[in-house]
Amino acid sequence: MPQNAPADLPVHQQRPTLTKIVATLGPASESPEMITRLVEAGVSVFRFNFSHGTLEEHAIRLQTLRTIARSMRRPLAALGDLQGPKIRVGTVPGAGIELCAGSEVTLRLGLAEAIEEADPVSGGSRVVLPFEYEPLVREVQPGHRVLINDGAIRMLAIDKNLARGELHCRVTTGGLVTSRKGINLPDSDLTAPAITDRDWECVEWAVEHGIDMLALSFVRRAEEVIELKERLSGMCPVSPDESDDFLGSTIPVIAKIEKPQAVDNIDAIVEAADAIMVARGDLGVEMELARVPIVQKRIIKACNRFGKPCIVATQMLESMIESASPTRAETTDVANAVLDGAGAVMLSAETATGKHPALAVETMCRIARAAEDHLATLPATASAPKAAQGNPVPHRRAPRTGAWYVAQDIGAELVVCWSESGGGARYLSQNDFQIPIIAYTSSIKGARRMALLRGVTPIRAEPPESGRLGDWNEMVDRDLAIRGWVEHGTPVVLMAGKPLGKPKVTTMIAIHYIGYFTGFRSHDG
Ligand code: PGA
Ligand code: MN
Repeated sequence: MPQNAPADLPVHQQRPTLTKIVATLGPASESPEMITRLVEAGVSVFRFNFSHGTLEEHAIRLQTLRTIARSMRRPLAALGDLQGPKIRVGTVPGAGIELCAGSEVTLRLGLAEAIEEADPVSGGSRVVLPFEYEPLVREVQPGHRVLINDGAIRMLAIDKNLARGELHCRVTTGGLVTSRKGINLPDSDLTAPAITDRDWECVEWAVEHGIDMLALSFVRRAEEVIELKERLSGMCPVSPDESDDFLGSTIPVIAKIEKPQAVDNIDAIVEAADAIMVARGDLGVEMELARVPIVQKRIIKACNRFGKPCIVATQMLESMIESASPTRAETTDVANAVLDGAGAVMLSAETATGKHPALAVETMCRIARAAEDHLATLPATASAPKAAQGNPVPHRRAPRTGAWYVAQDIGAELVVCWSESGGGARYLSQNDFQIPIIAYTSSIKGARRMALLRGVTPIRAEPPESGRLGDWNEMVDRDLAIRGWVEHGTPVVLMAGKPLGKPKVTTMIAIHYIGYFTGFRSHDG
């Protein structure tokens, strides 16, 4: 069985990794060759970061991704990441400006680009930085922290001039400021809307271009997620068949947890969102950095309780932006995210602008696989998984629970389902099976959205013409053997509903040994 495949086999011939890898596209990874290498190395979800680049650039990348997905016959998801109310420094000319500890710096609304101007008070010069968030001067009070570039540069507000749109700060930790770096204001009560005009523009673009999932940054309350979801369902109507979950026709929404307020409201946000991202970059600036590891664990637990996918993001293999191997601490971090129960891990600058995008993905996959191998050696929990909170539908839950018992008892190496719109696969992915769930669908949209689900390998296929489960059974045997994931006699759990290929509730579970054609045959043959 490929589970024990030698480590020198190319990654794609081994059994699929259970943990999903999300990779951010950028200048270092947008070529067709590099995207192909990233997919071969294990990426199933590509992040389009709307904070950088133009929509035209994203359109070209998306086109490339779709072409590659078709030629590789792989369902690959495009995740659009909305910037949200991120406040940024405007343009800084050249290679940037060094801010020195102890010096005073002015933030000025609407300035075209950063300048150094004569300071009448000190007689020297002072750096003036541009910004565009209009209410900033009103909302930041003297004494508040003003942090630039994920907190690398730290300042304190000391004075302001509302009429001139100026905030004066003293630098406490200096550093180089470059164009468009983020500004965090953890002490200030900001009135910025959760979804800005620019975000709405990106949402419309995403719907038009068939983006598979959207992430919302700086979420504070569940209502913000609900607002986006409601607008989306107005833009892409939901058919009754698909109405209930992650894989309906409304684009799934991932809430990025990067504000202390979101951590306080975590249950309501997890319940409202389709998936969660632990966005440690801003989270580590907005709240006490030392608490981020614990908060990460709490967020993952909440996601598991509600049965929602959870992505751990930012600086996972940061040193690989430059270096060909990760630090021991980063290796441990990726493994711990998997052991904590995160279903997906994300690469940001490592693949967007780094020197070794494919190597970073391969490294991440190897670490995730080793952690999964360890999880597989732990004794299975004595009882079936608990019903996910906020998911009360018994006829949805029952096949999932049943599959868990059957898989345990026969020592199944795979769970194979037909999950047309992906709902069934989502429920199955809530089980801590520690074995891959192979989910067949004829829906390309369903297949792509399943690409984020832990343990689920979506495969796009047409249902057998007869619509008979027995014929699908034979098809599965052939397909899995060709992929090298099974041998004659491999025990699998088969799940489907009737008729095949219609988005329907899973109604049947069968025990099957590959090549024996026993699965559904006696029932409907
Ligand atoms: P970002 O989100 O990269 O869009 O800022 C992730 C994070 O903050 O960790
Ligand atoms: Mn962020």
